[in-house]
Amino acid sequence: MDTRQQYERLLKRLPPERFDYEAVFHRILEAERRRHRSVKLVHELSGAEPRGDRELLAFVGFPEAEPLLWTIDDSLSYGSNRLVPKGGMVKAARLPGDDKISTFVFLKCQEETSPETRNCVLIAVLMHEMGHVDDIERGKHLRFDGPIDIVAAEEYAHRYALRRMMRENLRFPLGFLLGSILKDARLGDEGTVSRESATRIVESGEYKQFRQFVGDLVNVEETAGVG
Ligand SMILES: [Zn+2]
Repeated sequence: MDTRQQYERLLKRLPPERFDYEAVFHRILEAERRRHRSVKLVHELSGAEPRGDRELLAFVGFPEAEPLLWTIDDSLSYGSNRLVPKGGMVKAARLPGDDKISTFVFLKCQEETSPETRNCVLIAVLMHEMGHVDDIERGKHLRFDGPIDIVAAEEYAHRYALRRMMRENLRFPLGFLLGSILKDARLGDEGTVSRESATRIVESGEYKQFRQFVGDLVNVEETAGVG
C-alpha cells in the first residue's frame, strides 16, 4: 500500500473532528507567524510561479525586495548539494527602509491526494520551512556572512519541525515527516544533503522519542518503504 492510501485509510478511522487538519493548519500558521516576525508572506505554490528569486518575489507582491543569497561551501564534501525543494522553500530578502531580514515562505504539497492528507503534508512542510525561518532569525546556520553548512541547516529545520509537532500533539503530520526522513536516510542518494541530514536525525537519540510518540498510529517504516 502506498503512503497516500495508508494515510487515507488511517484518517478515515478517526472521527471527523480528529482530522480537521485544515483548521489545524491555519491555527499552526497563525501561531508560527506570531513567533516569527520576519515572515512577510506564506504562499502555496501552484507551479505557475516564475523561477528566479527576484521574479518570484515580484510575482507574490514584493517587486522592491532585494533577494539575499546563501553561499554553499563545496569543500564540505557533502556530494551534490541538492537544493531543489521537495516540499517548500524559504527566500530571504531585504525590503527598502527595513534593516531587518525579511523571509518569504513557499509551500508545496507534491502528492495529489485527499484534502485531509494534503493538510497533514502541508502542516509538516510548513513546520520544516518555519525551522529554516527560525534558523535565519537566530543566525544559526543560514547566515549571509560566509559559506553555510547546508546539511546542518536541513537537520535544524527537521528537528524544529519534529519538536514543534510533538509539542502540538500532531501525530499524523509528524508521522508523515518522520517517514520521509527515514526514507531519505535509508534510500536517498548517497552524499546528498537530504540523506546526510536525515541520517543525523535517524541516528540521534531524539529519533526514538519521535518514533515512540507516533506509536502505531502511523507505521513510519512502512510509510518510508523500509519496513
Ligand atoms: Zn529544508
